[in-house]
Amino acid sequence: MRFDIISVLPDLLQSPFAHSILQRAQKKGIAEIVVHNLRDYSTSKQKSVDDYPYGGGSGMVMTIPPFAACIEKLKSEREYDEVIFMSPDGETLNQAIANQLSGKQNIIILCGHYKGIDQRIRDIYVTREISIGDYVLSGGELPAAVLVDAVVRLIPGVLSDETSALSDSFQDGLLDAPVYTRPADWNGHKVPDILLSGNTPEIEKWRFEQAVERTRARRPDLLDE
Ligand code: SAH
Repeated sequence: MRFDIISVLPDLLQSPFAHSILQRAQKKGIAEIVVHNLRDYSTSKQKSVDDYPYGGGSGMVMTIPPFAACIEKLKSEREYDEVIFMSPDGETLNQAIANQLSGKQNIIILCGHYKGIDQRIRDIYVTREISIGDYVLSGGELPAAVLVDAVVRLIPGVLSDETSALSDSFQDGLLDAPVYTRPADWNGHKVPDILLSGNTPEIEKWRFEQAVERTRARRPDLLDE
């Protein structure tokens, strides 16, 4: 699976993809993540990518030409399944969307800045708009990193223990059960006996009950769905 991320601050996206699971996925050749510097596609002398908003008001607006040039170039090289714009007014990212996207081949992600991007870029090129939550960040880079992380870890072969994504919160509509590791007794705070029993079916049953209980207590809305 390949991601092409278009950003005016490509440096912001170096570290998030250079560690742990995302790094391993790229080394294994399962995921390819390419960051494009939007300024490289600006034809103006000052390499500008923004301009004053029509109608006045505060903040700058990202212009069409650099985005159009970069998207057109990418589209001339391969077919894309989606052109995603990270935006607070998009559909809120959840595990179902991450699962859906993990089955795609090529995805372009646009990162906004300032007041956002010229609406016509959204009208002409964007096929999907995704928010990472009801709050406003200063740029689309962190949201893009969140989206790519959530999607890549779901691609088969990325996680070493194939089943571990399946038991994560939301994957089965439930929050995850609590987890413990050694020592079994920390100053009198003990690990639940059942986990030390070696009785796998009983442990699975306990975990399921804990997951349901936790979901009922913290996210009853998930049980209604
Ligand atoms: N004026 C815009 C916000 C601009 S914030 C509005 O009110 O909708 C600048 C950029 O940061 C956005 O274009 C978007 O790409 C990114 N961004 C900010 N918050 C985000 C969020 N919650 N989810 C996804 N992207 C976000």
